Amino acid sequence: MSFYTPDTVLCNGETFKLYISKEQIQTRIAEIGMQIDADYEGKKPIFIGVLNGSFIFLADLMRHVSIPCEVDFFKLSSYGDEKVSSGKVTKLKDLDAQIKGRHVIIVEDIVDTGLSMSYIMKQIKEAGPASVRIVTLLHKPGATKYDVTIDYIAFEIPTLFVLGYGLDYAQEGRNLAQIYVIDDSKDE
Ligand code: 5GP
Repeated sequence: MSFYTPDTVLCNGETFKLYISKEQIQTRIAEIGMQIDADYEGKKPIFIGVLNGSFIFLADLMRHVSIPCEVDFFKLSSYGDEKVSSGKVTKLKDLDAQIKGRHVIIVEDIVDTGLSMSYIMKQIKEAGPASVRIVTLLHKPGATKYDVTIDYIAFEIPTLFVLGYGLDYAQEGRNLAQIYVIDDSKDE
């Protein structure tokens, strides 16, 4: 199978360059999958994917988990078409599953300010789960303003705008199999 893995990519008029390779991503996801297997042995967790950005990460992560598990989705409004957060969160799709008494693992693409995650956490906790943990592909500790405890982090990154592997720029670029960052070198 061949994935879409260019070294640079033009997306909505901006040039992006490779930042985290397919191999690096897959290695970390395998490690986190093994960790989840060990941490949830004898349990049947439910993964809650936060749409849209987490769908590729979630699909790969779940295929590295070998304990019984389920999946459901929660959808929030995102950045819109901008590269900075609007500072507002709206719920666009609620869970279908009943999570009362369940072991919930929230799966995010990226925790930036932490606003979306603190909003989701509050909603999930109100439903009375047995436990809640958070797994994120990316975390920008320098941008975090809301207090959220993240249990599994694939990569910590500086406060940069990234694209690919589920993350978009004005809805494009989610199909890239690697993670990219804006290439400023052409502006110098
Ligand atoms: P937060 O609520 O933590 O500020 O932002 C979380 C959401 O903002 C993410 O789920 C993602 O949709 C979007 N986001 C944050 N940083 C980036 C980024 O660097 N690139 C992209 N494409 N989206 C981002």
